[in-house]
Amino acid sequence: MQIQQNISLKQYNTFGIDVNAANFISIENKEELKTFLKGNKQPILILGGGSNVLLTKNVEGIVLKNNLKGIEKLKEDNNSVELKVKSGENWHEFVLYCIANNYSGIENLSLIPGSVGAAPMQNIGAYGVEVKDVIMSVEAMNLKDCSIHHFKNKSCEFGYRSSIFKTKEKGNYFITSVTFKLNKTPKINTSYGAIEKELNQRGITQPTIKDVSDVVISIRKSKLPDPTEIGNSGSFFKNPIVSKDIKEKIRASYSDVPSYSQSNGDFKLAAGWLIEQCGWKGKIIDNYGVHANQALVLVNYGGAKGADIFKLSEDIINSVKNTFGIELEREVNII
Ligand SMILES: Cc1cc2nc3c(=O)[nH]c(=O)nc-3n(C[C@H](O)[C@H](O)[C@H](O)COP(=O)(O)OP(=O)(O)OC[C@H]3O[C@@H](n4cnc5c(N)ncnc54)[C@H](O)[C@@H]3O)c2cc1C
Repeated sequence: MQIQQNISLKQYNTFGIDVNAANFISIENKEELKTFLKGNKQPILILGGGSNVLLTKNVEGIVLKNNLKGIEKLKEDNNSVELKVKSGENWHEFVLYCIANNYSGIENLSLIPGSVGAAPMQNIGAYGVEVKDVIMSVEAMNLKDCSIHHFKNKSCEFGYRSSIFKTKEKGNYFITSVTFKLNKTPKINTSYGAIEKELNQRGITQPTIKDVSDVVISIRKSKLPDPTEIGNSGSFFKNPIVSKDIKEKIRASYSDVPSYSQSNGDFKLAAGWLIEQCGWKGKIIDNYGVHANQALVLVNYGGAKGADIFKLSEDIINSVKNTFGIELEREVNII
C-alpha cells in the first residue's frame, strides 16, 4: 500500500481534466482499505473509472483508486445465477463475461464506461434497462468506522439515475462488491426502438443476448463521442420528469417536443432536445463545448478547465429555465 503525492488525475477521468490529487492510493483489497481507513484523517475521493465526474479543482485530500477485482459464483440453478462481483471490475468487461457465459440481463448496458462499484451509485441505465433490475445487494464499507453493510436491493432506494449512495448516504461508504442475479434463459429486451431497427437492418429476427449487445455497442459508437478521443462524461444532465400540465404547455408552443409517459402519469422530456432548442448544440467555446451530435454531452477538446465546463453547464441550465421553465439537474458528480 503506497501513498503517492501530487499526482495528476488527467488519466483517471474521462473528461481528461488535468487537476492534481495531493495524495493518491490504489486500493487492491478490502483488508488494505480497512487498514488505510483506520489511520486516515483526510477527506476522501473514491474513483472507479472517473467516467461520471467533473473535477473542478485540485483534490486536497486523498484519491482512493478502486482496484478490487474478482467474480465469485454464489449460486446457480437451471434458471439463474448469482454473482458477487468486486467493485473495481470494469463494467463492460463484466457485461462481456456474462454474454460469454449466456447470463442475460445486462446486455443492453454494454459499453457503459466505468467500474462495477459505481453502477449502483446512479443506477446506470440505457436502452430500456436499469441495473437495479438485476442487483440483489450491495456490500459497502463505512468510511468512518470500517463496518461492512449489506444493502438489499430495496434499501438501495434506487431511482432514475439515483440511489441512497448518491443521496442520504452520499460520501459515507466505499462500495466493495455488488451481487447480481442474472437469467440463464435469456429475456431479450428490444423495447427501445433503435435496437429493434438495427436488428431488422441486420436481418436478425430471433436475437441472442450477444446480438443485442453487438447492436447496442454499434449504436453507442455511432452516437456518443469516445472519451479516449474527446473528453466527456456521457450525459451531463438528467432527463427532466414533468407533470402532464407542464408537458402540454410546452407542446402548445413546440408541437414536436419528445415526451415519454411514466407509470405515475408524469412525462419524461429529453434534456438533449431542450438544450438543442436553446441553441447550444455544437457550440464551441475555446477548447470545450457541447457535442455536435448530442446536446446532452459536454466535451473537453483538450486542456479545458473543469470550472469552465461547470460554468457552461450553469449557462445551459439558466437558458433552459428561461425558455421552458424547467430546471435541469446534473447527472455528473461535480467534485
Ligand atoms: C461515453 C460515456 C457514456 C456513458 N453512458 C452512460 C449510460 O448510458 N448510462 C449511464 O447510466 N451512465 C453512463 N455514463 C456515465 C458513467 O459511465 C457511469 O455513471 C458509470 O457507472 C461511472 O463509473 P465510474 O467507475 O467511472 O465512476 P466514477 O466516475 O469513478 O465515480 C462516480 C461517482 O461514484 C463514486 N464512486 C465510484 N466508485 C465508488 C465506490 N466503489 N464506492 C463508493 N463510491 C464510488 C465517485 O466518488 C463519484 O462520486 C457514461 C459515461 C461516458 C463517459
